[in-house]
Amino acid sequence: MLDGRAAQLSAELSGLLARIDAACRAAGRAPDAVRLLPVTKFFPASDVAILYRLGRREFGESREQEAAAKVAALREQDLSGIHWHMIGRLQRNKARAVARWAHTVHSVDSERLATALGAGARAALEAGERTEPVRVLLQVSLDDDPTRGGVPAGDLAALAEQVAATPGLSLAGLMAIPPLGVESDAAFARIATLRTLLLTEHPDATELSAGMSEDLESAIEHGSTVVRVGTALMGARPITSA
Ligand SMILES: *Cc1c(COP(=O)(O)O)cnc(C)c1O
Repeated sequence: MLDGRAAQLSAELSGLLARIDAACRAAGRAPDAVRLLPVTKFFPASDVAILYRLGRREFGESREQEAAAKVAALREQDLSGIHWHMIGRLQRNKARAVARWAHTVHSVDSERLATALGAGARAALEAGERTEPVRVLLQVSLDDDPTRGGVPAGDLAALAEQVAATPGLSLAGLMAIPPLGVESDAAFARIATLRTLLLTEHPDATELSAGMSEDLESAIEHGSTVVRVGTALMGARPITSA
């Protein structure tokens, strides 16, 4: 018997996977072309453990300290094969800490941040805290508003070159969050175009992190390979993360 929270997460997860599956079929894509990244920020490590037992292995977090505490709590339970994704804005002075636990970072958006994350990754590799380079997704600004995070489209190619050439990092693809006030369909169409361009120079950078609880169907239509879903799986967060 699943207890209350486990039963609830199990039911929400089934519904969400069916929703993703339907979106893939509607877009003419294979059902396994899109992965679910549960976003567990603001929810306890015990929820991550439940989702792990339900078969999930990747988890998204947006704040370094909260994530590091969860990673430490779960390490004692020996959940092997778990991969943590840093999806939130990242300050340079947190890069070393993030490199200790993040398998993938979705929010690299400047050369200075990439340099710091590369140094952090090499230090973590040398210290035996990780065995693989940090997978990096470049967060692209879709409205060129510098206050919201994301590299302006015009600077994307140079940043991709830098990350691809930085020891300790591996360039895996792109990430985007539709700007407020912009129709998500238009935003995802734009990121799809930028991705096509990126792939001509970096054919292995195939990941596209796009789509959340509200707009995952549109993101999947435009080529998303991983959807970052919090609310539609976990329920409403206790406080907003904006
Ligand atoms: C919180 C968060 C999400 C999840 O958003 P929901 O609308 O709750 O699905 C996705 N991406 C990022 C970057 C986030 O910070």
